[in-house]
Amino acid sequence: MKDDRLRAARRYEHRAPATRAVHAGQYPSEHNGALVVPIYQAATFERQVVLGDGYDYSRIANPTRTALEECVAALEGGTAGFAFASGMAATTTAVLALCATGGHAIIPDNVYGGTWDLFSRITARWGLDYSVVDMTDLDAVAAALRPQTALVWVETPSNPSLRVTDIAGVAALARANGSRLVVDNTFASPVLQQPLAFGADAVMHSTTKYLSGHSDVTGGVLVTADADVAETIGFHSGALGTMGQPFDSWLVLRGIKTLPMRMAQVCGSAQRIAEYLAGHSRVRRVHYPGLPGHPGHDVAKTQMSGFGGVVSFELDGTAEEAAALCARTRLFTLAVSLGSVESLIQNPARMTHCTTGGTPVVVPDSLIRLSVGLESVDDLLDDLEQALRAG
Ligand SMILES: *Cc1c(COP(=O)(O)O)cnc(C)c1O
Repeated sequence: MKDDRLRAARRYEHRAPATRAVHAGQYPSEHNGALVVPIYQAATFERQVVLGDGYDYSRIANPTRTALEECVAALEGGTAGFAFASGMAATTTAVLALCATGGHAIIPDNVYGGTWDLFSRITARWGLDYSVVDMTDLDAVAAALRPQTALVWVETPSNPSLRVTDIAGVAALARANGSRLVVDNTFASPVLQQPLAFGADAVMHSTTKYLSGHSDVTGGVLVTADADVAETIGFHSGALGTMGQPFDSWLVLRGIKTLPMRMAQVCGSAQRIAEYLAGHSRVRRVHYPGLPGHPGHDVAKTQMSGFGGVVSFELDGTAEEAAALCARTRLFTLAVSLGSVESLIQNPARMTHCTTGGTPVVVPDSLIRLSVGLESVDDLLDDLEQALRAG
């Protein structure tokens, strides 16, 4: 049962992110006093009357998932959240909810591989046209907008090149055209960037990454402050069955409690690692928005409160040397994914960005992507130094 008095007393809109991360959406008196929202591993719920409020079937709503959805909505400054089985389930649901056959969407040239597959190989078959645009160029975005453009998709910072898109700039263009803007905020997390405040209609996260933060679950969320967008996403989630499961929701909710602390730590370590790499003779180029020379640094400063934990760099060497370096690190584990407590290393051209074949942006063979975790930054720097020296 919802405890409205407790909810009123614990409104989190005016609270800091660290406070929201621990408490938002979580009301012990609604769960027999359990301090941690239980895992409601139930498919169906007893009804007191045939028609009435409350939970009835877990595809439509589940109390553990509701707690997560309220928590992420509070973190993003939205009014409604929706949790999904994966980031791609969230993206798919948003695209099916906001677009239709005969419509048009705009996606970034440097888009996540799974998102690219969705537009280029799935929704295109159903008659959704799309344009691929360099989102760092607002004139190119303006030129690509059409009367039938229903959706503009932004990912910032982008994967794996850490390009930065001006959210407010794209939002103004989209709004003037009557198009919806959705921002994939996975790399920043809601702690560092809140796209709704810059005019986005909805925000998407792969909670597999920073929100859960422990490499033990796949999940996704969408958050909006727009009642019409909330209505259609809620309907599509229930109808499509793309929603997240109770145990997965519980894991993400648990991870979120430490999200602000984790982000503060990885931002500090990633900045030091980016600066170290930028001064290294074997490194051709470093992509990190926290470096003053990064093309998106000034825009990032206006919309992010930190620059995140992902650093990419181009080795001054061959594809083979880059692959060998990835296999030589001892603390950075050779694995795809990001945003976890463990530091990871990977070679996008041969790993995340090879399966997606036709991704519009060609990733250099020598590009290496690091996801900086919570280990001692001195140990991480030692590890990179031994790996770079040994080549
Ligand atoms: C991982 C990721 C996704 C997809 O999320 P899954 O949970 O793997 O489905 C989407 N966008 C970005 C930026 C990602 O890193």
